[in-house]
Amino acid sequence: MASNPTSEVDVLIIGAGPAGLMMALWMSRLGIKTRIVDKRTDKVFSGQADGFQSRTLEILDSFGIGERVWKESNHLIEVSFWNPDSDGTIKRHRRAPDNISGMSRFTEAVLHQGRMEAFFLDAIAASYPHPADPSGTPLKVERMVLPTSLEVDEAAAEDDDAHPITVTLRHLTEEEATPTQKLSNLSDGLFRSNLAGDDVGKMLAQSKGRADVREEVVKAKYVVGCDGAHSWTRKALGPKYEMKGEMTDFVWGVMDIVPITDFPDVRTRCMIHSASNGSLMIIPRENKLVRLYIQLTEVSTGGRVDRSTITHEMIFKAAQKIIAPYKLEYHYCDWWTAYQIGQRVGQHFTKCDRVFLAGDAVHTHSPKAGQGMNVSMSDAYNLGWKIGLVTKKIMPRKILSTYELERKQIANELIEFDHKFSRLFSGRPQKDILDETGVSMDEFSKAFNMSHMFTSGLGVNYSPSALVSKPSEKALLLESDKEVQHEGSPVAKSKLSAAAHCKPGMRFPSYQVVEQCDARPWTLHHKMPSDGRFRLWVFGGDISQPAARERMGPAATPFAGTARFRLDRPPSVVDVLLVHRAPRGEVELLRDLHDVYHPFDAKLGWDYDKVFADGESYHEGHGRAYEGYGVDPDKGAVVVVRPDGYVGLVTELGEENWGRLRSGSRGS
Ligand code: FAD
Repeated sequence: MASNPTSEVDVLIIGAGPAGLMMALWMSRLGIKTRIVDKRTDKVFSGQADGFQSRTLEILDSFGIGERVWKESNHLIEVSFWNPDSDGTIKRHRRAPDNISGMSRFTEAVLHQGRMEAFFLDAIAASYPHPADPSGTPLKVERMVLPTSLEVDEAAAEDDDAHPITVTLRHLTEEEATPTQKLSNLSDGLFRSNLAGDDVGKMLAQSKGRADVREEVVKAKYVVGCDGAHSWTRKALGPKYEMKGEMTDFVWGVMDIVPITDFPDVRTRCMIHSASNGSLMIIPRENKLVRLYIQLTEVSTGGRVDRSTITHEMIFKAAQKIIAPYKLEYHYCDWWTAYQIGQRVGQHFTKCDRVFLAGDAVHTHSPKAGQGMNVSMSDAYNLGWKIGLVTKKIMPRKILSTYELERKQIANELIEFDHKFSRLFSGRPQKDILDETGVSMDEFSKAFNMSHMFTSGLGVNYSPSALVSKPSEKALLLESDKEVQHEGSPVAKSKLSAAAHCKPGMRFPSYQVVEQCDARPWTLHHKMPSDGRFRLWVFGGDISQPAARERMGPAATPFAGTARFRLDRPPSVVDVLLVHRAPRGEVELLRDLHDVYHPFDAKLGWDYDKVFADGESYHEGHGRAYEGYGVDPDKGAVVVVRPDGYVGLVTELGEENWGRLRSGSRGS
């Protein structure tokens, strides 16, 4: 028998859902030789995830697709809490903002997952031809392809040039790859819900009987399993990789409908707790659609639920009961599904820092807090640039261990949050303060408000590592003493907090500045596209003064000349940018500033896009960036931002601090 054809690839991605597509987008932007396979015949067309959190929109925007989601989506601005009155009738208890104001230029937005997947595919296609490899094959999702075996040569794991992973792929026919579990003529998502079993076994069994079955062998440097909650990749890694956690007794239905109702808040996000019929969440969507998350109190639990007992009629009746005395009907249902709340996290997110698990493949929880797709994409966003820069030998392999460190922490926080939120939302409302088994509605709305930093994704705070340099606990204690002494000062005075509001491990915030060369206002995130580059933001203070210019001059030298970080040949992997506090008119870009702030290219001339003033714009006010970042203009600061937008290091300006940056530029 002829052996299977064999090929080599740098990265193989298994699964083209939100996590897999984010990974593929990074690889396409960085020009890494990659393949992405999916067992399904096509992308999602309706239903499934729909909530985009602020941080996710910032990330999508850094790839140039945030505006597309923002434009087509419905924006969630307000949330209403409806609870039973003393007579048991639901009443609006209070209204609150759905987001923390001023943290991000994006609020939570909703648009169905399929649109977002389409934007990803467009963005991946637009990455080609890639400047680093103009003749390289454009990355495309290879559908109806299933992996059937995976082996890792652990002895070769630390060899930068090795392809230590061997995967066998099987190509399916459309019939084999199409799920057949539809239970009604409506578009139902039960086959992708956690109430359904895995369909891979069935697909493989079907294709095995075929005489012309086509298989191939792929040797990869890295494999990323983004294959969802039933992850084949996770199972292939062995029992050590099983997810740990519990399935709860709470069963929920989901319907996307165009509602006909006299309920007054149907175009507002609502949390409704009925007296004894369960809870309902309303999410107003694009195109007049509304998503209803409906608690199914009548579905018997005590183990796994039999999904064949669940119908859309039954789910809708439950919604009508919760929302009564208001009337609820519909003519159009776009999609529906049901799920049982379970919270699980994988014990390990990687094998040998060669095979990685991302997204639902390594954490699952209830979808109501709108986190799964966001956290899944963020996993891949955290991992993609690391694999890319290691594959290109720009960064050492040791940075890959930060993936599990950083993302397992977030997965655990997510499960903890979901546990609390699901219990409060699925619990029966307290009748009075003596009712110990009921849920306090005040506790519920407080928990909701407290969770904004987490649910928006803006509160992520990674631990110290080769990529995050945090002041020690002891130094922070001393620091807080100093801050007490300087109380009343607009910015921190000590060295550890040179940019007091840029916290290592957290996302670099975004404030408006004015471009030196043409007076156009920008927020700094606009100047940080996801292109795999570190950013060194130099806050030079009033550089119209010679002393301030002197102080920031050597900012170039820590990186200049090191082979990995060539600043003299753009594009370098470190982008040096300056925000000054001088009157804009008193600074001449080419005359006053070191070459690193206006690198020269023989074909393209000088780069004018690296210097900004923290000043008044003509039409859009003053961004007050120094106050926002917490930088004292008399001292200045340098903030090193990782390619994923998280702060790696903060230091003061001045020759004695370049050592920290220099050592950071070598190795990690
Ligand atoms: P998936 O989206 O599951 O994608 C996995 C991909 O891998 C699929 O394309 C699948 O075909 C493919 N695959 C699977 N096995 C194999 C294999 N063996 N070989 C090849 N390919 C394979 N999240 C939110 O953030 N916000 C929300 O509002 C939200 N609402 C939700 C509502 C519902 C009703 C549900 C069910 C989920 C919701 N989620 C929400 C969760 C969200 O859908 C998931 O967390 C998210 O899709 C996970 O993305 P992923 O890429 O990790 O996995």
